[in-house]
Parts: sequence; structure tokens; C-alpha cells
Amino acid sequence: MSQSSAAHPRRLQPGERPDLVADVVVVGCGAAGASAAIAAAEAGASVIVLEAASAGGGTTAMAGGLIYMGCGTPVQTACGFSDTPEDMYEYLIRASGPNADPERVRLYVDGSLRHYDWLLAQGMVFKHEYYPKKNTNTPGDQCLIYTGNEACTGFAEYAAPVPRGHKGQAMGEGGGSMLMEKLIASATARGVRILCDMRARSAILDDEGQVVGVVARSEGRDITVAARRGVVLCAGGFIMNTDMVSRHAPWLQHHTTLNGNPNDDGSGIRIGLGAGGASMNMNEGFVCLPFYPPASFVEAIMVDSRGQRFINEDCYHGRMGEAILKRYPERHFMIVDAGHMGDFNRPPLGGFNVTATGDTVEELEAELGMAPDTLAHTIRVYNRHAREGGDPLFRKHADYVRPLEGPYAACEVTPGSGAFFPVFTLGGLRARATGEVLDEEGNAIAGLFSAGRNSCGLPRSGAGYSSGMSIGDATFFGRLAGQSAAQSPVRTMPASA
Ligand SMILES: Cc1cc2nc3c(=O)[nH]c(=O)nc-3n(C[C@H](O)[C@H](O)[C@H](O)COP(=O)(O)OP(=O)(O)OC[C@H]3O[C@@H](n4cnc5c(N)ncnc54)[C@H](O)[C@@H]3O)c2cc1C
Repeated sequence: MSQSSAAHPRRLQPGERPDLVADVVVVGCGAAGASAAIAAAEAGASVIVLEAASAGGGTTAMAGGLIYMGCGTPVQTACGFSDTPEDMYEYLIRASGPNADPERVRLYVDGSLRHYDWLLAQGMVFKHEYYPKKNTNTPGDQCLIYTGNEACTGFAEYAAPVPRGHKGQAMGEGGGSMLMEKLIASATARGVRILCDMRARSAILDDEGQVVGVVARSEGRDITVAARRGVVLCAGGFIMNTDMVSRHAPWLQHHTTLNGNPNDDGSGIRIGLGAGGASMNMNEGFVCLPFYPPASFVEAIMVDSRGQRFINEDCYHGRMGEAILKRYPERHFMIVDAGHMGDFNRPPLGGFNVTATGDTVEELEAELGMAPDTLAHTIRVYNRHAREGGDPLFRKHADYVRPLEGPYAACEVTPGSGAFFPVFTLGGLRARATGEVLDEEGNAIAGLFSAGRNSCGLPRSGAGYSSGMSIGDATFFGRLAGQSAAQSPVRTMPASA
């Protein structure tokens, strides 16, 4: 047997008999892989899922479990919100940034209500309850919450704001593990074989360059798994691979917390590249600075080391995190006032690093080492407009605008100062929305599909990311990739050994 690696796929040997055979072989059992497996089985394919860990779940099981859905889901309607495909499309196009894929966004929007029903069919329960405050997730088992910039400047002008983050009925951050339990149970009930402690190492190609299986490592030996119709790579992103992150997205490494499961090492991306696939969007990542809850901190202002504001502070914490990390090593501070002092008893995720205090802005400014009348000028102007009920400079929503009165404190939110900046990657294999992996020329590689963070999917911009877009994408486009693989023509393969 010739030596293979992700970069050097195995060639099918004449007369070779694989150890295992299925119509569709899925690599990875997170949201994308489980959804692909269920969809392929629903389409009549025999399915094997190879999972490197000892149990399925992946990063999805660590997640809060928010799923971005809209167009008038039963939860939105029951909670009094009306949503339209036009508004959801406009929002997602802007949220996707310069690399937006209109065809993918259109499919996602038009299929959103069917996707909601599909999740119900997998056993998910969505409580008809809205959580109205600004938060990173619903704290109880409420379902619906604003999880992005829908009500903020730059978005609300183009699409009527409406909450689209849906969490299955689970307490707090338990939504991801609950989703994975349901998906794995559904896949198993459909006859999908989920084989754990099986790490895919490389693709197997036939003489025409078609992908006909994978080599996987199990109990210290390589086994060959043949795919009669297709291999679906759903092995997650590459945030835990420091070499890949420093080559493709070095800005994500400035004192951040690499946020994923240990197998988010890009192996699925590298297997796809080895088989001839192209990658895209590899420099992009989601960065979060969870400076709320409590929502009262949205009334604070964020300034740089010159005492200048740079953003509407009511934006989603991912947009804030991205803006600050992109300006690294510039120092940044959240300026709070007397009205916030009671909130220090319940600091936001990651805690606070109070760097300076002052009875007056001038004292605070001096303690921070800022030039005289820089921060003081910023607060004077902010307060003047706040008294008139607005923020003409950055258009922070009026709900969060009030004059800031002393005494003041500055909490440092510079990466490396103790502030919490979890990050994950948004780049991966170039693929059609229907899952086919594409090469540098844009041609589909026969037999190879991908979804979830293994590919470049719906979420493409840290600045526009909204919670729920990744799991929404992984489940939705995982299904499409599984269907596409199941409907691919059968290739002539040797029988199982
Ligand atoms: C703390 C946290 C909270 C989050 N909250 C949300 C949220 O609320 N909503 C949201 O949309 N997103 C959220 N995200 C992001 C989201 O969870 C992930 O981006 C998404 O779940 C990725 O799904 P996936 O199926 O692509 O990958 P995963 O769920 O990571 O699944 C990939 C699987 O592949 C396996 N694998 C890897 N390599 C191999 C290999 N070579 N062979 C076999 N198996 C392999 C892994 O072990 C893993 O089980 C959160 C992320 C974190 C870290």
C-alpha cells in the first residue's frame, strides 16, 4: 500500500478490495456531517460517517446552538414578528460582506421555512418565546433572539429588523449539544453507521481523478473506505491548526482564544485540497468580544488610545470584536459611568479589566495617558447629542443612548489585556451551494462534496457574522451536500473485503 497523506491522496490499486463500502461516506459527525448523512439516507443511500473523536458532536456540541432562520417561522409569528424573504435576503447579503454568494443566500432564504420543518422532523423543539434583551444567547430555554446587526445602522436601513436566532428548547448554552443528540439519533434511526475513532487521512482517487473513497486511521492502522457515489467532507474548520491560521489568517492569532474542538485542525480542508479542490475566504474569521450582557454596557462607549469612538456600540459583539482585533495593537477601552457601577456585580463573559478611574473625564483621560481634551471632547460631544436623544456620529440606536456622567471608569478591551476574544475560521473549500467541491478552474471534482466550516459557506465575514449563521449553514447546506452525493452516479468500485 502506498503512503498517503491529506496532500497526497491514495491512488486506487489494481484489484484493491476496500475494508468498508457505502454509497456515501461522510467525514465528520458535527452539524454538517450528521445533516449530510441524514439527507443521503433519506435519499436512499447507504451511509457511513467517519468521526475522528470517540463520539460525534464536534464543535457544534460545544456551541450555544443558535440557528439562523426566518421568513416567518412559527416562532417568529407566534412572538409577533413578521419577516419576509426580501428582508432576510437583503440582510444576509450585507452580512456576508464582499465575498457574498447571492445564489447561496437565495437558496438559504427560500428554504428557511422548510429547514425549520426539517429540524422539527429530526426531533427538535422550538419554544414559542422571544427573549427581548441584548445577549449572546437566550439565558433560559427561550427560542428567539436578535443575534446580529439587524436593528443596527448599516443594516436596518436596507431590511426591516427582525430577530432570526432560533435555539432549540434547552437551557442557556445547551442548544448545541441538544441539536447534536437529535441529529445523531435521527441518523442512527435511518441506518447510518457512525464509526468513531476513525480519522480520515486522505482521499482515494481513481485513474480519472475521481474521488472514490478515503483512507482512515483506526487503532493504529490505515483502512480503506470506498464511496460508490460520493465522499462528503464535513470535518470542520482550521482554528486549532496554528500553522494554517498563521499562514492564512494571522490576524486571528493576536491574543485570542482559538475556539473549537481539537479536531478543528483543517484536515478536511487539506484532504479536499489534496484531491484537487480549491480553497477560498481563508483569511476570514469570526471574532467575538462579549462585552454584553448585561445589556446596560451597550450604553457605554468604546474608544481607542486617542479617546476617539470608532463604531456604533449597539452592534453585535462579533462586529465589535472584529473591529478591535483588526486594529491590533491599538489599545481600546470601554468607558462606563456612574450608571454602570452596579453592573460590575454581573460582569460580561470574560470579566472586566478596569484600567483607570476618575471623578471627572479629565482625570480619567490623564490616568489613561491620553492627550488633554481628547476623551473629554469625545464625551462632551456624545453627551450633547445624547441629551437630544441621538448619536449622529455613529448612529447607535436611541434605546442605548444616554449622557455619561461621572464618576467614570475605563475597562481595557485590547487583545492581550485580559479581554476575551474567542475566534473561529470562516474559510474552507470552494464548493457549490449544492456541495460539489470545485477546483481552481471552477470545475466540480467528481465524487467530492463538502459542507459546514470545511467549506466556504454562508458566513463569510466576521464583521457581518450573526450567531446562528454557522450552524444554520452547516445543517442546511450539509443536507444539500448529502442529497447531491446520494444522487451522484455510481462509480465502478471493488466489493468490500
Ligand atoms: C463556544 C462556541 C459557541 C458557538 N455558538 C454558535 C451558535 O450558537 N450558533 C452558530 O451558528 N455557531 C456557533 N458556533 C460556531 C459553530 O458551532 C461551528 O462553526 C459549527 O458547529 C461547525 O459545524 P461543522 O459541522 O462544520 O463542524 P463540527 O461541528 O466541528 O464537526 C466536525 C466534526 O469532524 C470531526 N473531524 C475533524 N477532522 C476529522 C477527520 N480527519 N476525520 C474524521 N472526523 C474528523 C470532528 O471531530 C467533528 O466531530 C459556536 C462555536 C463555539 C466554539
